[in-house]
Amino acid sequence: MSHPRKSTVLLEHHLKQLRLPTVLKDYALVAQSCSREKCDYPTYLLRLCEKEVADRQKRAMDRRIQAAKFPMLKTIDSFDFTAQPSVNEPLIRELLRCEFVDKNENILLMGNSGTGKTHLATALGFAACCQGYKVRFFGCTALVTQLLEAREDRQLQRSLKQLEKQDLLILDELGYVPFSKPGSELLFEVVSRAYERQSLIVTSNLPFESWMEVCGSERLTGAMLDRLTHKVHILEANGTSYRLQESRKRLARRKKTKRQN
Ligand code: ADP
Ligand code: MG
Repeated sequence: MSHPRKSTVLLEHHLKQLRLPTVLKDYALVAQSCSREKCDYPTYLLRLCEKEVADRQKRAMDRRIQAAKFPMLKTIDSFDFTAQPSVNEPLIRELLRCEFVDKNENILLMGNSGTGKTHLATALGFAACCQGYKVRFFGCTALVTQLLEAREDRQLQRSLKQLEKQDLLILDELGYVPFSKPGSELLFEVVSRAYERQSLIVTSNLPFESWMEVCGSERLTGAMLDRLTHKVHILEANGTSYRLQESRKRLARRKKTKRQN
C-alpha cells in the first residue's frame, strides 16, 4: 500500500517542480478515461500534454489582457455596427486579424465623442492579445503625465524602454487636453520610437488640422503626423454618439409607456 502512495507523492512533487499544473491536476482523471478507452501510453501522455499546452496558452493570454490595462473590456462582439454606419466594418474585420501588428502599421480612429472609438481600439487590442501580441493601452494625457513624472525621477529612459517592449500601443483620446511643450515632445518621442518598429492605435476627436492646437508647435505636429500616417489605416466614426442614441431610445420608451398608462 505504501509504494503507490510514495510514487504518487514523488510524481506530484516532480510535476510541481516542472511547472506542469494541468498535468498535476488532471493526470489521475485522464488515466481513468484512457484506461476505459484502452488507450496506449503515448496517447495518455499526448492528452495530458495537449491539456497543459492549451491551459498554458490560455494563462498567457489572460496575462497579456491584464497587462494591457484596458479601461473596459470591450470586444467586437458587443459593437453594434448598425448604430454607427460610418464605421468601415470590412476594414475593422480585416484589422482584427492583426496583420497590421506584424507589419508595424498604425491605425487612426477619428470621430466625435461617443462614437465608439475607445470601444473599437479596445476590441482591436483585445484581438491582438488573443493572438499573442503584447499590448498596452494608455489615455494620451495619462501617458504624457506618466512620462513627465518619470523624467523628473530620472526614469524616463526606463519608461520608454518599457514601452518599446510592446508590439502595439494604444494612445486613446488625443485632443481633449492640450499638452505642454515638454509633454508634446515626449509624445513625439513615443511616436518616433514606435515608427516602423511597433504599431500604434491613436484615437482622436479632432481632425488633423486641429492637432497643432493640442501639440503646440507646427513643426512637431507635422513630424508626428508624418510618422503616424506613413503606414496607416484611417477609420472614421462620424455618427451620433452611441450614448446619446441610447438615452434618446430610453426617453422614447419612457414617453411611450407614459402615454399608454
Ligand atoms: P468614444 O471613445 O468615441 O468617445 P466610446 O468607445 O467610449 O466612444 O463609447 C461610449 C460608450 O458607448 C461605450 O460604453 C461603448 O461601449 C458604447 N458604444 C459606442 N458605440 C457603440 C456601438 N456602435 N455599439 C455598441 N456600443 C457602443
Ligand atoms: Mg474614447
